Amino acid sequence: MLDQNILKGIVACPDCSSTLHSLKVCDNCGLSFADADGMPSLFPQRARRTVSFQFTPDRSTAGASFREALRYPVRSGSGGKDNPYHLDLAHLDIIDRLPKGSTILEIGCGGGQMRDWVTKKGYHYIGTDISTSRVFAFLSEHGGPDILCDAHFLPFKEKTFDLVYSAAVTEHLACPYLVSQEVFRVLKPGGRYLGNVSFLEPWHDDSYFHMSPLGVFENLTQAGFTTENIWPGEGYSGFRAIMKMGNKVTLPLSFIGDAIYFAYRSGNKLRNLVKRHPNWSIDRIEDTARVAGATDWIAQKPEH
Ligand SMILES: [Zn+2]
Repeated sequence: MLDQNILKGIVACPDCSSTLHSLKVCDNCGLSFADADGMPSLFPQRARRTVSFQFTPDRSTAGASFREALRYPVRSGSGGKDNPYHLDLAHLDIIDRLPKGSTILEIGCGGGQMRDWVTKKGYHYIGTDISTSRVFAFLSEHGGPDILCDAHFLPFKEKTFDLVYSAAVTEHLACPYLVSQEVFRVLKPGGRYLGNVSFLEPWHDDSYFHMSPLGVFENLTQAGFTTENIWPGEGYSGFRAIMKMGNKVTLPLSFIGDAIYFAYRSGNKLRNLVKRHPNWSIDRIEDTARVAGATDWIAQKPEH
């Protein structure tokens, strides 16, 4: 369980945004919070914080800056068994470079399976989720979330975190644009937002919006972020995802999805060899992104 001292000074009322001095009641607006087995549940009730997302046309840039962001980081892909479930190597590299004592927020932390790994590196970790009932049984042994809350109304003061991480969560948000704006608010200037989202995975676990690379770029840009990298999971294609997550019949046949993807990739490689494309790496990433199961990103809140 989280050291309560860390919470002091960073939690804010999800309703009125004033600083919380207790996890039971807001001194300012009087909203009281439920307590689920010792787990603070900081949900807004009167929704005083109106959703006022500003859509800014001149921030929307599907041109050159998107093409610059659409590239693989130095390393990417599965971190393997020694690293937390879902954590991409590119995200791991960013987390590893944080100064000791940095504070990391994970949105949609599930069982809190990142916690031990993060705290062993000398960082503070706060994991949030909307409930504990949606967590896979095999992840529940990690202690669960520190705080239950709604990502659309993050109960934290602005400029609190050095890094926000969110894996396979954004597709489950009713208003992903608003959540990116919330993440931007709670990040310190220069802080990074790392994550990934479903693209061609089937509809699953009440997911709302699945995102292409351009969708991710627009979502981040509209919130004010500078997007450093957007890339598709290379092995995890939509063909594979549809077979694996389709239904009981498709699951044992998922080798067919793998075979179709292998044929797709081989065809692209052959074509690139024959055509000798000057822009081979961009072609490669676009061909992968077109049929990817998920899209990853690294974004930064500008220093100023
Ligand atoms: Zn309040």
